[in-house]
Amino acid sequence: MAYDDSNIFAKILRGEIPCNKVAEDDHTLAFEDIAPLRAVHVLVIPKGAYVDWRDFAATASDEEQAAFTRMIAQVAEVTGIADSGYRVISNIGRNGHQEVPHLHMHVLGGEAVGPLVDRS
Ligand code: AMP
Repeated sequence: MAYDDSNIFAKILRGEIPCNKVAEDDHTLAFEDIAPLRAVHVLVIPKGAYVDWRDFAATASDEEQAAFTRMIAQVAEVTGIADSGYRVISNIGRNGHQEVPHLHMHVLGGEAVGPLVDRS
């Protein structure tokens, strides 16, 4: 899928709409989910234009990929959930129920997160 820069996260990155920033580095931004599903619900996104993991893994630099990984750990630290535990989720494509076509990780915690997936 080609990257569509009209998506909501691209607008956040361009400063066209606000976000509640949690952390940032040269390659990555972390901000609070607008509709939190747990006490802590932070989204981690690369600043580059990547739709999904195929796109990111194939074309992002090693530096960008390392920054993305490290930011997840940094978010857990700054939100105080590193010791109590948390879940990291990435929804991709139709079956993964990805709503925003810019690669992102959900970091959820601050309370029990529950089963991995709905078993129904
Ligand atoms: P996904 O289904 O994995 O694509 O999740 C997209 C997430 O983006 C959802 O959890 C939304 O609540 C969240 N979201 C949508 N718009 C915004 C926004 N303007 N600021 C922060 N989070 C948003």
